[in-house]
Amino acid sequence: MKFEVTILGSNSAIPAHGRHPTAQILNFNDELFLIDCGEGTQMRMGELKVKRNKINNIFISHIHGDHVFGLIGLINSMNLSNRKKPLHVFGPVEVHQTIDFQLQLTKNELSFPLVFHETKMEVEQIVETSNLEVITIPLDHRVACTGFLFREKFRESNIRPEAIAQYELSVDQIKAVKNGSDIQTKSGETIPNKDLIKKKKKNRAYAFCTDTAYLESIIPLIQDVDLLYHEATFTESELSRAKDTFHCTGKQAATIAKKANVHKLLLGHFSARYGNLSPLLEEAQEIFPNTELAHEQVTFEVGS
Ligand SMILES: [Zn+2]
Ligand SMILES: [Zn+2]
Repeated sequence: MKFEVTILGSNSAIPAHGRHPTAQILNFNDELFLIDCGEGTQMRMGELKVKRNKINNIFISHIHGDHVFGLIGLINSMNLSNRKKPLHVFGPVEVHQTIDFQLQLTKNELSFPLVFHETKMEVEQIVETSNLEVITIPLDHRVACTGFLFREKFRESNIRPEAIAQYELSVDQIKAVKNGSDIQTKSGETIPNKDLIKKKKKNRAYAFCTDTAYLESIIPLIQDVDLLYHEATFTESELSRAKDTFHCTGKQAATIAKKANVHKLLLGHFSARYGNLSPLLEEAQEIFPNTELAHEQVTFEVGS
């Protein structure tokens, strides 16, 4: 089952050095989730052939423009393409107000239901499907801001081919085994699921944490995730600026990753002052070696 994230925008504040403000596409089992929607998101989607009408859920961390200024444009394009399906937008109340205000002023009546779900500064499960849940992660920024944890609830197991032959399993039985059931053989013997599958795979998780000051209270929420995207707006030499603006340095992001024992760290939300991002990467890798830069138009797999 596919679980991967594609970076559409990785910069903070203003577009610079060919980098766009924050936006990502999460693909879970061929369902697309948009996370943040900075200016230029639609252009990147076009370049990467991401179909806008495949997006049914959008998650906005906070009201700052570099995370939301692309949203009205995207909604407008969905309307012009005569979308009918509902679009769900999760974010702080200000996101709802801003979009409503723009729609009213432009006298735009939408062809589809636009459903807002207001996020709060608390840990809350905001989406639950049969195999995925999304949970808010309260962050510490100048305005209300949450990250999002996307956690697989159930992962299909791989069946051992020799078990299929040994117990003469039907197609329905194979499906049931993959979904965690025991089976009964023709002679009435019960074979436990663990004897039929290859090693049980760990449920995968992706955490998106931007914008925030250094915040250790997120550690229990993101413990052991396969992939953590954490903002690293500045290098450690700009620590006081990071503190003043409620952002993090590369070193701080890596410290969080290490303390939370995540598998891989992706750094993003880069200040426009850095054309060359190597110093940010290097200071993070000194603390947490499995760190990469969230380069745009690159897809990162969540877990394995
Ligand atoms: Zn930002
Ligand atoms: Zn911000």
